[in-house]
Amino acid sequence: MDGKARNTNEPCGCGDCRSNLQEYLDGTLNKNQSLRIFLHLRDCDGCRIEHEQLQLLFKDLDSLPDISVPEGFDEAIMAAIPYAAYKEMAPLRAERVPVYLEEEFLPATVRAPLTRWLGGAVAIGTAGAHGLAGGPEWLLALTAVGAMPELLVRLQGLSRWATLIVRRSEG
Ligand SMILES: [Zn+2]
Repeated sequence: MDGKARNTNEPCGCGDCRSNLQEYLDGTLNKNQSLRIFLHLRDCDGCRIEHEQLQLLFKDLDSLPDISVPEGFDEAIMAAIPYAAYKEMAPLRAERVPVYLEEEFLPATVRAPLTRWLGGAVAIGTAGAHGLAGGPEWLLALTAVGAMPELLVRLQGLSRWATLIVRRSEG
């Protein structure tokens, strides 16, 4: 059996494709994974649309104006971190990336593409309403809240990547 070589040229399934779309867009997948998603996107309308929408969303997020963080933002985030769970995982933390960099550390609802999507839409909508229509300041608070799931996931992914790179370079 030549399973490995064959897999290389086979498109992945929809589930695999969707759960790796973000990394695919970020360019953090290895060549084979990337190729399999590319092939799947070529043949699957549903996933291709999702891919295009994500692409647009990221573009919009990148072009958001710099906004100041609402008062109490840090405190709200710190208060939302499940400290008990953090402590429980102390033994694992020694060998792996810090627990707050584990994907599972973010609640599944935050990581869900739909949440990130809707949040992004809210962020873009409120930022637009504030910037273009001169809406009230509290719209910017909504912008921050809306952008948060996406930002958290991306920030976490970036930090995890950086941690692993540093660790590797330290041997
Ligand atoms: Zn698909």
